[in-house]
Amino acid sequence: VWRSLVSQVMGGANRRPAVSSFSRGMQTVTLIPGDGIGPEISAAVVKIFDAAKAPVQWEERNVMAIKGPGGKWMIPADAKESMDRSKIALKGCPLKTPIAAGHPSMNLLLRKTFDLYANVRPCVSIEGYRTPYTDVDLVTIRENTEGEYSGIEHVIVDGVVQSIKLITEDASRRIAEYTFEYARNNQRSSVTAVHKANIMRMSDGLFLRKCREVAENFKDVKFTEMYLDTVCLNMVQDPTQFDVLVMPNLYGDILSDLCAGLIGGLGVTPSGNIGANGVAIFESVHGTAPDIAGLDLANPTALLLSAVMMLRHMGLHQHAAKIQTACFDTIKEKKVLTKDLGGNSKCSEFTTEICRRV
Ligand code: NAD
Repeated sequence: VWRSLVSQVMGGANRRPAVSSFSRGMQTVTLIPGDGIGPEISAAVVKIFDAAKAPVQWEERNVMAIKGPGGKWMIPADAKESMDRSKIALKGCPLKTPIAAGHPSMNLLLRKTFDLYANVRPCVSIEGYRTPYTDVDLVTIRENTEGEYSGIEHVIVDGVVQSIKLITEDASRRIAEYTFEYARNNQRSSVTAVHKANIMRMSDGLFLRKCREVAENFKDVKFTEMYLDTVCLNMVQDPTQFDVLVMPNLYGDILSDLCAGLIGGLGVTPSGNIGANGVAIFESVHGTAPDIAGLDLANPTALLLSAVMMLRHMGLHQHAAKIQTACFDTIKEKKVLTKDLGGNSKCSEFTTEICRRV
């Protein structure tokens, strides 16, 4: 039973991540505009990519949950086919889950379809944007498939419930390997494993052991380990001491939002979800902002920075740097800013200003 449970939750954790290979010239990216402000901020990114002459061609797909053979929920075949082929997707914002009985969370469905096991969030201070700190530059990497979010819960007796935290050797090794490779490929010098192995000796102990083992193969990257509570204390006192942090699912969910708060919130925080079969989906982490949808008021920064992450993942570092600098310079100058950034400009005006600078 346990083996089948573990395999069901893990999907294919023991598969090594496939290495994407991209040809020179134009590269195809699946574009999922999403709901609410998603289409507006996606259009802004497309415009800025055009201005920067980024060698990307977009293949737009609508993603929704449909019932497949045997009543199983799945995403439309043309969207899956596009992502299987392009290996890269940019998603405007989280997709709405219809409030209908039995309808799955769209974000969960995508995660399961592509076995998106690593959630990556770089947090970099933007000069000129008033935040608690000015020199944050760190990355949180969250194991995205198990831990407390494995969905294994039951009632033991009336009034007593049990939720199981599932940690496996394969998933722990897989996230540790991704993290160290990320650090090496992105010129990051240290990795901190975040854990509570002093209390959860078996589960976090296993996670930590795998991190230590993988660290042995990456002698060029400094490895440290820290209790989650100590990380929280140190993070608010001096976030500059951290570089790349890797952690199990629940800790990552919480700590990544805390880190987003250090740089100004979800409106300026990008994210990427890396899958075991080579598919990666980049997206903003704010919601669909239905209150401002269609009003040309949305701030496209989080999605644009997610697209910058995507360019780096594709090896297009020069284009990534050019677009990020144009975005940061626009914010620093404070002349053309959307309302949430403290200005009075429309999304389209902010976008045009970034285009002018790339
Ligand atoms: P939200 O993030 O959509 O909006 C919160 C506030 O922030 C709103 O005032 C909104 O106008 C503003 N905002 C958000 N993004 C902005 C942007 N790019 N530019 C300017 N202002 C922006 O959160 P919500 O209103 O609580 O949720 C709306 C929908 O999004 C819900 O359906 C919710 O379930 C979904 N959501 C999903 C996720 C997720 O899956 N990760 C996260 C948050 C919200």
